[in-house]
Amino acid sequence: MARLQFRIASYRQGTASQFPGFHYSATDKILLFRTRTEETPMPLVNMKDMLRHAHDHGYAVGAFDLVSLDFLEGIMMAAEKTRAPVILSLAESHFEYYDFELLMRATTAAAERASVPVAIHLDHGESLRSVVTGIRLGCNGVMVDASHHPFEENVRITKEVTDLAHAIGVPVEGELGYVPGVEGEDAEKHPGEIRYTTPEEAARYVEATSIDFLAVSIGTVHGRMKGTPKLDFGRLAEINARLGIPLVIHGGTGLSDEQFRALVKNGVSKINYYTALSDAAARVVHENARRGARGYTALASGVRQAIAEECTRMIRLWGGENRAEEVLSAARPWRNVMHVIEYNVEGLDEAGAARLRAKGREALSRIPGVMAVETGVAIQPEDPPYRYAWLVRFCQPQVIAYYRDHPLHVEYADRHFRPVAGNRVTIDFELDE
Ligand SMILES: [Zn+2]
Repeated sequence: MARLQFRIASYRQGTASQFPGFHYSATDKILLFRTRTEETPMPLVNMKDMLRHAHDHGYAVGAFDLVSLDFLEGIMMAAEKTRAPVILSLAESHFEYYDFELLMRATTAAAERASVPVAIHLDHGESLRSVVTGIRLGCNGVMVDASHHPFEENVRITKEVTDLAHAIGVPVEGELGYVPGVEGEDAEKHPGEIRYTTPEEAARYVEATSIDFLAVSIGTVHGRMKGTPKLDFGRLAEINARLGIPLVIHGGTGLSDEQFRALVKNGVSKINYYTALSDAAARVVHENARRGARGYTALASGVRQAIAEECTRMIRLWGGENRAEEVLSAARPWRNVMHVIEYNVEGLDEAGAARLRAKGREALSRIPGVMAVETGVAIQPEDPPYRYAWLVRFCQPQVIAYYRDHPLHVEYADRHFRPVAGNRVTIDFELDE
């Protein structure tokens, strides 16, 4: 139990019959912990609530794509300074530039210590598998990008993702129409010609897939613009009137202030923004080099501030400034759940018990919505009443039921665990403050 580093905000303890919502067998005694640190705020919020607030109140939240710690820190500096909700966005098309798992650790840590509402988004998820991995690592919103496929195929792939993500409470962004790349380091990731979103197709797509947010193609491009793009605001207004869900713009770099205002006025509630941040960072590096900087830290000096300045300017332009408090009270907090079982085994020696735990860790950690499966052996000097423990971290409470009914859990519990672990009871244990 020494590995329990979190602080318990509240917990419930007792038999299954006391928890009508949780259909475990009556002999199971279960603790469900809600985890929260009390020393600092934990303003991860439900992204659907966050963007609903933006849509209802006529502003857009910046979804800033980060590719390094400098980006992450710069974005958070801007959000804190402007008291704005913010989306920390990690694009699968950028995974070659960083280790997704490591940067997610930093991203969730940044969200946990923030005082403004934060959501963490998987941008341009390529597959169901990517989406499950993103959620496991801490994303609480996901995009599946099947927009390069024909309509029916886009619907099929997107629906597969929404069916799963919604079952574990995670909102989904889909894209219809196609936003191509023109120039810049992101451009080659989005080859081909623009395809505009049509209002009729958009309505059919949302109906068929139940997505929560729709990325539309109305004239923007990924990467850098060539000249000032023409945006089809009439089309956007019609899509917004028909759907009534938060709309998303990809390829925000290079638009005029006027164009941004018109986007926000017509239902755009999330703006993906990356190339301009990348260019701002690069300008600083070039300038440092021109002044004779040679080492890495000297070259990168000031990048964070440049990112923060660019994000601050856009947050203000898009109307997100000073919205943090409203969003914190309007949006449901996003909280992980710790599922704890303590038990003894019969008919197994220590090696057999260790194999049982290893098998469970392997099987249960593959269930979507499960963030971590930890097991442990009691360290008390005398014989403790319960020798073993499971600590299973769920991304949020809706996973409890999904996990219980998932075939991997049913198979493991019925065939391997319950036959030897009939003695499952709760014990008191001390947790780190
Ligand atoms: Zn994009």
